[in-house]
Amino acid sequence: MSGYDALIVGAGYAGAVAARRLAEDGGKKVLVLERRPHVGGNAYDCPNDAGVLIHLYGPHIFHTNDRRVFDYLSRFTKWRRYQHRVIADLPRDGSGGRMTFPVPFNLDSMKAAFGEAEGARLGRKLLDAYPAQSQVTILELRQNPDPEIAAIADYVYEHVFVHYTMKQWGQTPEEIDPATTARVPVRLSGDPRYFLDAYQGMPLEGYAPMFQRMLEHPNITVELGRDALARLELADGTIRLDGEPFTGPVIYTGQADELFNFRFGPLPYRTLDFGFETLERDCFQTHGTVNYTVDGDYTRITEFKHLTGQVLPGVTTIMKEYSRSYAGAEGEIPYYAIISPENNALYAKYKALAEDHPNLHLLGRLAEYKYYNMDAITARALELTDRLI
Ligand code: FAD
Ligand code: UDP
Repeated sequence: MSGYDALIVGAGYAGAVAARRLAEDGGKKVLVLERRPHVGGNAYDCPNDAGVLIHLYGPHIFHTNDRRVFDYLSRFTKWRRYQHRVIADLPRDGSGGRMTFPVPFNLDSMKAAFGEAEGARLGRKLLDAYPAQSQVTILELRQNPDPEIAAIADYVYEHVFVHYTMKQWGQTPEEIDPATTARVPVRLSGDPRYFLDAYQGMPLEGYAPMFQRMLEHPNITVELGRDALARLELADGTIRLDGEPFTGPVIYTGQADELFNFRFGPLPYRTLDFGFETLERDCFQTHGTVNYTVDGDYTRITEFKHLTGQVLPGVTTIMKEYSRSYAGAEGEIPYYAIISPENNALYAKYKALAEDHPNLHLLGRLAEYKYYNMDAITARALELTDRLI
């Protein structure tokens, strides 16, 4: 016998929140197996050699409208006030120079794009066209038959969405799941913030300490550097851990296709390459993230000191993100599920296999093949454990 009541694979948001709840509120002895040498999953952060606190797997900014999620995480961290702002940096049409404007594209971006007076006039026109909305998606805007609004839509499509989306997904905005571009709408206000959620901020000491506190509980054992798949067997509705039947809840937060040895073929993903650069200067850019929406081979540059508020004179670290298709090679990380009817159908076959095991629960961005933010997966982990406790 393993001596554990519950097994959790992965120590990211899904695994860590579930582990804490089962241990604390369910009184269960929980074993967490994590393949990486650290907890936190893709939200993990750490100081680099220059002492700059960096996010190793891409920039993570916490935001939510879900009070329960905010309260739950707030037990394990204090927060730093931070409201993420992003600008686009792109070539100015016809001049050879460059220009910037806020993203999401808003009424101020309109003035930067079309000039003060014309931008203001077009902004009023947009407000009249959508009197009861605070925002509109680019795909919705492109349906508008009014020629002037169609011209705005064309501008935003060309200067914000089409090239960035091609870089990120290798497909146009029409070809990808509409919910993806809807994450970054056209704002019918001058609000320059990337997210408008009621609760936003950065963990005061970083994400890793928040996860460490969450997993610090007498009923939780975390084993790092352990690939659960080397110790698990799934057959005939039974799960075995180290050769012994395991009848308690098993919460698996890794890839669904990998769990079943890619039986129906691999699920498609996008991966990222991160280009970190440490520079001997106080500051590199004006904003936490700058999106290169038209040119360049990377999508965006993030400068971590803006996010973390770290005061470190004379040195800063930036990170460029390059997206490409995931091939499943050694060391590659499947960052984004590619949501489409075809891929969802393939996922459903793996999900059906999982359902043959009554004590197996697929939870998380990988295991559920969804585009979850940190708050959404925290909410999912709270809901699942509500049912299990
Ligand atoms: P993960 O964080 O992927 O954790 C899964 C864990 O399981 C990993 O640690 C993995 O090593 C482990 N694992 C997998 N298989 C095994 C195995 N066989 N054995 C042992 N361990 C295993 N969200 C936001 O809210 N705000 C943001 O600003 C934001 N920015 C993002 C930027 C990027 C570039 C990316 C890719 C994502 C971003 N997200 C953001 C989303 C956020 O990363 C996810 O919502 C969150 O990490 C999901 O947590 P998870 O536990 O489901 O998955
Ligand atoms: N997007 C875009 N231009 C931008 C920002 C976003 O075209 O300047 C599109 C792109 O398709 C991207 C999606 O909107 O994948 C969602 O953007 P978000 O910033 O939410 O992506 P994430 O931070 O999750 O990578």
